[in-house]
Amino acid sequence: MHVLIVGAGVAGCHAAADLAVDHEVTVIDRSGVAAEATGVSAGLVAPTNYYDDEPAIARHANRFFRDFDGTHEFTFTPRDRLDVLTDAEVADGRATADALAAADFDVEFLEASTLRDRFPGIRADGFAGAVRYGDTGWVDPYTYANALRQTAQERGAAFELDREVTGIRTDGTVRGVDTATGPIDADAVVVAAGWRTGDLLPTGLSVPIRPYRTQCVVVEPDAPLDDTFPTGRIGSEHLYFRPEHNGDLLIGGAHDTIADPRAASADADESFMLEVAEFLPTFFAGAEKAGFVNGWAGVDTASPDTRPIIDSPVGAPDSLIVATGFNGLGVMTSPVVGPTVRHRLTGAEAPFPTDPFDADRFEDVGADFEYISTSEV
Ligand SMILES: Cc1cc2nc3c(=O)[nH]c(=O)nc-3n(C[C@H](O)[C@H](O)[C@H](O)COP(=O)(O)OP(=O)(O)OC[C@H]3O[C@@H](n4cnc5c(N)ncnc54)[C@H](O)[C@@H]3O)c2cc1C
Repeated sequence: MHVLIVGAGVAGCHAAADLAVDHEVTVIDRSGVAAEATGVSAGLVAPTNYYDDEPAIARHANRFFRDFDGTHEFTFTPRDRLDVLTDAEVADGRATADALAAADFDVEFLEASTLRDRFPGIRADGFAGAVRYGDTGWVDPYTYANALRQTAQERGAAFELDREVTGIRTDGTVRGVDTATGPIDADAVVVAAGWRTGDLLPTGLSVPIRPYRTQCVVVEPDAPLDDTFPTGRIGSEHLYFRPEHNGDLLIGGAHDTIADPRAASADADESFMLEVAEFLPTFFAGAEKAGFVNGWAGVDTASPDTRPIIDSPVGAPDSLIVATGFNGLGVMTSPVVGPTVRHRLTGAEAPFPTDPFDADRFEDVGADFEYISTSEV
């Protein structure tokens, strides 16, 4: 079976590396590997935080990053993560921590005083405690996507970059794609084209996705952060953070739906930089004189329940699959893409439940759903 994958972000590259073991695979991208959301990602990896209700998914993703560590240039940097909680959030956080610990995850609830003792770089003024995850970390997303690409190529996959797919050819079954420079035949097509996925589907098919813009800034703290400094999320502030390898601090946030992703600025907004500048000294010790290093923005793809759609759109032939709607979590969730696509195409069992990624879990396939930020889940 010749599988054609549209998009060389983490989703397309993971599907290619997995399927190339026993399929003919071609990946086509209108620009390059990690050219869009993947290349501007912060690279945080915290599957246990977002899939606490689906432990097999969290375990699979956690294991994948550790097993893949050392492949080509890819490294996984393990680091504790703090999910920092307000008074109103503490009861739920404590229950989540207890349930995950009972299921054998390295997770615990920390009272505010313990949090500050254990992590002296965190002041967390006004916060009531945190859930500490010990199975988390981060990756460089560009290196990660390219290590997946190289793995796929070693297994025989072909990559055609700077070639735009303009449509999918079907006559009841999938026949391939049209591109600006001519058609390509294929037995199956996987559309992993981020927010552009919907535009490529044949007339009458739709998946509920919409683009949103989100931002990051990097600051240089008063002294470089050491290698015990945690990663974390401050959900009530819609912010997250992680150290850089050189001791700088990355802070991300500001999720806004946008009508025209083509016109979205790739620079961080001044208003976001000011928000971060005000917040920094209240939350981090040693950030009083932090200096701005750089900032950027990127566009990712939302789905109504914050989880991706990796399936045939409702009404589509089985050999047409989408992998989209990663909601700011596509790097950490990418290990599910290959096994889920394989399950859809061949019926092979995935090592985790795939129903959270079913297309038919949504009754309405329109794009006018209410956006939910993953800060809130
Ligand atoms: C600022 C920011 C920070 C983030 N931080 C994190 C984080 O810390 N952790 C995490 O897990 N996730 C994070 N994310 C989310 C993550 O980056 C995305 O969910 C993930 O990269 C999506 O991957 P993708 O392959 O679906 O899409 P993309 O990376 O957008 O790839 C889609 C590809 O399809 C190609 N394409 C589109 N249309 C066509 C066409 N017609 N023909 C050919 N090719 C086409 C594009 O060129 C592109 O390369 C962040 C995202 C942003 C924007």
